[in-house]
Amino acid sequence: MEDFINDQAIADILEQASGPDPARVREIVARARELKGLPPEDVAVLLQAEDPGLDALVCEAAHDIKNAIYGNRLVMFAPLYTSNYCSNNCLYCGFRKDNRGLKRVALTSEEIAEEVRILERQGHKRLLMLCGEQKGKKSFDFFIEAIGTAYATMTENGGEIRRINVEVAPQDVEGFRRLKAADIGTYVLFQETYHHDTYRVMHPTGPKADYLWRLSAMDRAMEAGIDDVGIGALFGLYDYRFEVLGLLHHARHLDEKFGVGPHTISVPRLEPALNAPAAIRPPHPVSDHDFKRIVAILRLAVPYTGMILSTRERPEVRREVFQVGISQISAGSRTNPGGYHSGEEGMDDAAQFNLGDTRSLDEVIYDISGQGHIPSFCTACYRLGRTGRDFMDLAKPGLIQKFCRTNAIMTYLEYLVDYASPETRRVGEELIARLVGDTGENGTRELLAERLSRIRNGERDLYI
Ligand code: SAM
Ligand code: SF4
Repeated sequence: MEDFINDQAIADILEQASGPDPARVREIVARARELKGLPPEDVAVLLQAEDPGLDALVCEAAHDIKNAIYGNRLVMFAPLYTSNYCSNNCLYCGFRKDNRGLKRVALTSEEIAEEVRILERQGHKRLLMLCGEQKGKKSFDFFIEAIGTAYATMTENGGEIRRINVEVAPQDVEGFRRLKAADIGTYVLFQETYHHDTYRVMHPTGPKADYLWRLSAMDRAMEAGIDDVGIGALFGLYDYRFEVLGLLHHARHLDEKFGVGPHTISVPRLEPALNAPAAIRPPHPVSDHDFKRIVAILRLAVPYTGMILSTRERPEVRREVFQVGISQISAGSRTNPGGYHSGEEGMDDAAQFNLGDTRSLDEVIYDISGQGHIPSFCTACYRLGRTGRDFMDLAKPGLIQKFCRTNAIMTYLEYLVDYASPETRRVGEELIARLVGDTGENGTRELLAERLSRIRNGERDLYI
């Protein structure tokens, strides 16, 4: 297990980049527009440039890069918590072992199926399944079974889950092989903080106290054949500049070793949580302004990597950062196991943390449609084997846009016809009409129009 994060080296890069010359910042932003990504030294310069004029330049470039590669679609998913039992004591998390005030819940298979049915009836097609980390083989066996249960659970109107990503404790290679065999999409895991001393303080006991076991998890996942992995850092634990460079080093390590970087980067920010001291008083709070810079700078640094934003953030913050590089979002989320069934919002006595956005999926879709984003429920790439390096090869010349945009519009129409409220359907139909009109010739518009009419005639799950 190789420790490729050198705290001192990252601190030195940041130190050398402090007080940058505006001309250098402009030159770096111009180079980022070539879509080849940026080395850590250049990213450090952007992180250290705190001038409103330069910020605007970075955000504008991030917006253009996101549109060039991904278009203006936003892929939708819902988290599904199966259990909140945990052997760890992460100081920021409501599920931590020492939180005696938390109601502990582990869903049964039937309860999981019930949660899935509720999400399917809202229109969801993609899940992120998560749980606390429990020692022993039994809980992992149950989690694997739960993935099968979720895939097998269907409802009327073709309600089904077509892709399940998972966020569970790091496994050995054998454990990752089992996840792969369970047909997962992306394996997601956050390092939380890349800063070794902070990591030690935040994870005092339990298996998660081992920094290197967690840092090397993606290497083992890839060795086991999972070629879409998602990394992330929990912003608020340590200096955000350091964490951005940590993420970048992680991405470069995977790219160098496996020929493909992470499929996604998540940018969770600390939210208040019950009896979690580091969440109640974050050691390094990140302002909304800096949060937007983080997303924009990452977009410039790793242009082909998807970026995920959860409902931890408030609607107004979400609107801002969608503009500068986010490509996947959760909506209508609950962070307590069984939360969809109980229908309770926000802080619940079994929840992991507070939510910033408690709107329903339909309300979120209405909102983002009004801003011209295309909500997408697409799961085509994963089902057609366009994963790992194959996905990146397509994404690099911007080709993914052709597939993503067409699939996004098709799955959006499915949602509007099957699940949307009358208001959302009206706004959505107007947007779809505009999108079809804006579609280039060369057969793409004809293909799209033909597929949309097939969906209106009752066909489902069409993709290219
Ligand atoms: N237990 C596994 C783990 O720790 O990786 C699986 C998922 S855990 C339920 C999901 C993530 O929630 C953690 O990795 C952490 O980054 C995030 N999280 C925990 N407490 C949080 C808080 N108070 N605010 C925001 N995110 C939090
Ligand atoms: Fe457990 Fe994960 Fe929460 Fe840590 S972050 S206490 S490992 S659920």
